[in-house]
Amino acid sequence: MCLKAAACAALLGATLGAAACARSAAEPHHASRPDIDLVPDSQMTPGHVRPGENLGSLLGALNLGGGQAEGVLASIQGVFDPRRMRVGQAWRLRRADDGAVRLFEYEIDGRSVLRVLPRPGDAGEFVAVVAPYDVRTTAVEVEGRIDERTPSLFAAMSAVGEQPDLSLALADIFSGEVDFNSDLQTGDSFRLVTDKSMRDGRFVGYGPVTAAALMNDGRRLLAFRFQPAGGKPGYYDAEGRSLTRFFLRSPLKFDPQVSSAFSRGRMHPILHIRRAHLGVDYRAQAGAPVVAVATGTVVLAGWTTGGGRTVRIRHARGYESGYLHLSAFGPGIHSGARVGQGQLIGRVGATGLATGPHLHFELRKAGVHVNPQTERKKLPPGEPIPAGQLQAFRTVRDGAVKELGFDLTASSQPPQTVGAN
Ligand SMILES: [Zn+2]
Repeated sequence: MCLKAAACAALLGATLGAAACARSAAEPHHASRPDIDLVPDSQMTPGHVRPGENLGSLLGALNLGGGQAEGVLASIQGVFDPRRMRVGQAWRLRRADDGAVRLFEYEIDGRSVLRVLPRPGDAGEFVAVVAPYDVRTTAVEVEGRIDERTPSLFAAMSAVGEQPDLSLALADIFSGEVDFNSDLQTGDSFRLVTDKSMRDGRFVGYGPVTAAALMNDGRRLLAFRFQPAGGKPGYYDAEGRSLTRFFLRSPLKFDPQVSSAFSRGRMHPILHIRRAHLGVDYRAQAGAPVVAVATGTVVLAGWTTGGGRTVRIRHARGYESGYLHLSAFGPGIHSGARVGQGQLIGRVGATGLATGPHLHFELRKAGVHVNPQTERKKLPPGEPIPAGQLQAFRTVRDGAVKELGFDLTASSQPPQTVGAN
């Protein structure tokens, strides 16, 4: 049909009834779809704002001719500040076959668009408006499963049509409980409730996850979003204990795997001598973000022999964490800097004695190396919700439980009971 319409338009010329021609060519085969709009007498040029580009240079490169670029620029004065244009944002230009601009659109953000149209009756003059998109936000329930085809949270989320943002949000919620770099396995699953905003059938963004369940290794973890009076919103388990823990499960957000675990004696890959590996190696891409596993003070951000670029952070309870072989330090990371749990402290690299990009992560307690993968289990669980607000929490929790269809009586079973079969 497209070929026919194009050929037809070419035969008839641009000025004479090309649209009508396209319609009649399409009709015998698509009589039931008269609403197909081919707009054969104009062409659309789409693009994205490139680095260093401004509205003037963008329009200039399109060779609009006839002072149209100037006309478009003049029309947006007082309507939209062109300095607010951002790299990567989409634009599109529709031109008639004679070169006359029919429409110029720039996507300001997910919720509004700058639209420039010819002023009716005034050749070369344009009108500009900032129009809101019709954004619809609805509560959605998302379910996914880890298996051979979808071995990571990213893959499982993508398989059910959701975006990476939602994987990150879910991983953040349970990051004190599950090491998504190594703990996920086939048969694990998740379920969550969030708000999803769509515009013209296209994704705009998610609201916060309001409730989530993660089935991991036979245990079921639950999370409910609750904001205590006078506090920040956070995630709590069914009993109202905060899911925020002293240590994160891992200093890497996602995907990489443990390539070498903590041990008191292994063959060193470069030195080829047996020696202890007093930390955990995570396989990761160069440049992957590395975060502080707990709040603390940077005691070293510099070069060490073997470790290359290294960050060491002192925490409460006599702990110190170390992050080795980094390619770069995070912004503001220097000796004496205060860092919060989850704050970016550097990027994965291969500096020092390393065969390839990976993160060597270690933990010391009172100066003695301990196994990071087991040490965190010795620490107490998160803070409970104050007694005075438990009732308010239970109301929120029960609403979410109803929505997700959870059976709360099964939630606190120890893993061995559930996973025995
Ligand atoms: Zn190592």
